[in-house]
Amino acid sequence: MNIRAPKNVRFECQRCARCCGDTPHRGRIIYLLESEVKKISKKTGLKPLEFASPISGLGNFKYKMKKRNGVCIFLKNKACQIYDIRPTVCRLYPFLVSKNDGGLVFEVSEDCPGIGLGAPLTQEHFKHMAELAKSIIKLR
Ligand code: SF4
Ligand code: SF4
Repeated sequence: MNIRAPKNVRFECQRCARCCGDTPHRGRIIYLLESEVKKISKKTGLKPLEFASPISGLGNFKYKMKKRNGVCIFLKNKACQIYDIRPTVCRLYPFLVSKNDGGLVFEVSEDCPGIGLGAPLTQEHFKHMAELAKSIIKLR
């Protein structure tokens, strides 16, 4: 698979939880697959509409996560309450992935304070993320 990713990007998560809510510069939308909604519902005992709102016209995404005061409802004290089963878009952050000529293009979110810190990300890292991204993006 053709992968286009930024070169020499350093990243080390600062656990600031900024990616779990809106900031003054951007609104954060956590898109969800139906399978992710089912998994979260099963694990938390919540009904889908208690934590997600249906959406349409966005490919594989069928819901978006509900927020409280601009923050994902599963964030408590800067920690994700569903970390083990967090949605794919959360796992991919601080990268945004789109489709291009049958391949995947990674763009980095400048809003993440972990960018520019830590070790440079390798091609292996982006290959792993591409595998994750395949579940949310239909390539063909
Ligand atoms: S905004 Fe970046 S540094 Fe902060 S928790 Fe999210 S990924 Fe980590
Ligand atoms: S599901 Fe977890 S990681 Fe994703 S936005 Fe909500 S609190 Fe953050």
